[in-house]
Amino acid sequence: MLKIPREQGRLANTPLCPKCRRELDAFSVFEAGSRPEPGDLTVCLYCSALLEFDSSMALITATAESIAGIADLTELQAATHFAHEFQQLRKKEQQLDQ
Ligand SMILES: [Zn+2]
Repeated sequence: MLKIPREQGRLANTPLCPKCRRELDAFSVFEAGSRPEPGDLTVCLYCSALLEFDSSMALITATAESIAGIADLTELQAATHFAHEFQQLRKKEQQLDQ
């Protein structure tokens, strides 16, 4: 069964996705009450890039070492799934606007 993010919020900063260069200022987490921290992995909502928060909470492309250390692949799968759903919704909205 697909995991569902438990909580959402705004990041204190507005990091750029290193792949698509969009600003990412919000987050969803699977664990209630938690917030992203340095070293956490995340998925870009716009381009599905697998990213990592560095020590200053900027976003970098996730390292192979970090990816290899993922304990719960269902969370990564769910995050990627929600990013794809968001992209589909955005595409539909853009088509309706034209
Ligand atoms: Zn991106």
